[in-house]
Amino acid sequence: MKIYYDADADLNLLKEKKLTVIGYGSQGHAHALNLKDSGLDVAVGLRKTSARWKEAEEAGLKVFTVEEASEWGDVIMILLPDQNHKEVYENEIKPHLKTGKALAFAHGFNIFYKQVIPPNDVDVIMIAPKGPGHLVRRTFQNGSGTPCLIAIHQDYTGKAKDIALAWAKGIGGTRAGVIETTFKDETETDLFGEQAVLCGGSAELVKAGFETLVEAGYPPELAYFECMHELKLIVDLYYEGGLTRMNYSVSDTAEYGGMTRGPKVINADTKKVMKQILEDIQTGKFAEEWINENKNGQPVLKKLREENKNHLIEKVGAQLRSMMSWLTNK
Ligand code: NDP
Ligand code: MG
Repeated sequence: MKIYYDADADLNLLKEKKLTVIGYGSQGHAHALNLKDSGLDVAVGLRKTSARWKEAEEAGLKVFTVEEASEWGDVIMILLPDQNHKEVYENEIKPHLKTGKALAFAHGFNIFYKQVIPPNDVDVIMIAPKGPGHLVRRTFQNGSGTPCLIAIHQDYTGKAKDIALAWAKGIGGTRAGVIETTFKDETETDLFGEQAVLCGGSAELVKAGFETLVEAGYPPELAYFECMHELKLIVDLYYEGGLTRMNYSVSDTAEYGGMTRGPKVINADTKKVMKQILEDIQTGKFAEEWINENKNGQPVLKKLREENKNHLIEKVGAQLRSMMSWLTNK
């Protein structure tokens, strides 16, 4: 697989353009500040009521309304929560998408599932950092950079890929390495990962382990430490050196017990369910469900959020974390 680095990207391509970042949240602040620090002309688009307006101005950025910023910019990167793209795009961005401009995203959902349908005479690109915005900012500042994916949905000007690479360079991505993908693959693998493994799978694994110990009469505090707290130590080892590093670092007892018992927990049936989850993503069934959930005011999300909040592991966890002086967001 080809990996693009600094030498493959030309920042000059963006020096003659005005760059708009819509939104100043996790990704928005990182893209805007990194591009500015790369010597580029950047403006942030926000609602008038935004609490972040002042913060962006104090950081030395130009701040306009979403409409003004869309009118002003040649490359317009939408960094709002995905469920708000469609409405904001239709009402405030689309009217200002003149021929030859570029529309950019950091995730493929709205283009791939046709929630945003741009006109034919603009470039449509993706630059998706593989990390939260605060990491994108921090690694830029320390000189290392966060790896990014880029993708081209529409190449009207013939320069779409060069623009995407230049943007990736401006935010520090090409220092770490940039991989080209498609809106389809990025969207489908992202949804699958968060549902089956990262958010869904891991949370249910933790809860099931915790419940098993508590139901067997063990103190919830011990169950919390074993099933949630220590997970971070294990994940850090995966992150640094994969399964081998994890197995090398834990005791032989943990390694043997894990390798012989793990496959009983996650087995052929689990994989069958994972395949079904992937199929619902590929057919668009999940996207349709999520779009309707948002239209209805997120009733299921709100109910499940409340249920999770009231789980014993959350109550015990909050208490135990208050003992951990080094944690800031308890
Ligand atoms: P955030 O939730 O952090 O974005 C919040 C920003 O959006 C705020 O500035 C908020 O303004 C603004 N906003 C929300 N609704 C509106 C609206 N209707 N009109 C104007 N401004 C609005 O988003 P993220 O940074 O998490 O995500 C942005 C994109 O990046 C998404 O496409 C996401 O999939 C993608 N992405 C996110 C990653 C992450 O780790 N977070 C990683 C990689 C990609 P206000 O101050 O007014 O509320
Ligand atoms: Mg993801």
